[in-house]
Amino acid sequence: MSEQKLDHFLGELRAAPSRMFFGYPSALSHIARHAQARGQRMDDLGIKVAFVTSERLYDEQRQQISKTFGCPVANGYGGRDAGFIAHECAEGGMHITAEDIIVEIVDRQGVPLPCGEAGEIVVTHLSTGEFPFIRYRTGDIGILDDGLCRCGRGLPVLKEIQGHSPDFVVARDGTVMHGLALIYILRDLPEIRSFKIVQESLATTRVCVVTESGLTREMAAKIEREFKARLGKEVDIQIKEIAEIPLENSGKFRYVVSNVP
Ligand SMILES: [Zn+2]
Repeated sequence: MSEQKLDHFLGELRAAPSRMFFGYPSALSHIARHAQARGQRMDDLGIKVAFVTSERLYDEQRQQISKTFGCPVANGYGGRDAGFIAHECAEGGMHITAEDIIVEIVDRQGVPLPCGEAGEIVVTHLSTGEFPFIRYRTGDIGILDDGLCRCGRGLPVLKEIQGHSPDFVVARDGTVMHGLALIYILRDLPEIRSFKIVQESLATTRVCVVTESGLTREMAAKIEREFKARLGKEVDIQIKEIAEIPLENSGKFRYVVSNVP
């Protein structure tokens, strides 16, 4: 959005404030930063809540939007092909709209995992007769919470949602690509049970894998070849077999981490 458009938008908002506000986190935080740069107060409009969805909401964005507009930010998960899946309550719980949707966390073979374990989020809709969604794979990684939310609602809660926007990786020649480009290489190998990719630098990428029955030389060669094809021929691909992929310190589950700025 141009400066002019942003000014216009802020003017409109002031002229006809609404109690709710919807948008992408990136767009709302952009508008908030602009208002702040202009020294324009926006926290006196009586906005009750800002709903954001479709993108990962970063903490800085939440703080920026909340501070500028003087309201809490409610995150929503879903909204793409699978429809809305979960909404954040005032206590911060991501409640699944379980009245008309079943959310399961499954492993690579599609077997449901218990609460607390990370796996792919699959959804089944109960109210879309004309276009059935049955165990639709979102490609996102999540963890179900087995506890009750402080807000008192009985709807189940998603503790963790990852993979909406996997980290980006950078090829040797500077090309920025989606982490999925690397994830798909390993996902397509049935012998690989789980994995983690860490781009240490432009020159080195580490790949940790957990395999079904041992990492063979052929498998390692194939992984190396495919990674080099995307990241660059000169890149050192270090493949290591481990027993289990540990969670991040934050308790999050990430397939790809890039330490390249
Ligand atoms: Zn709640």
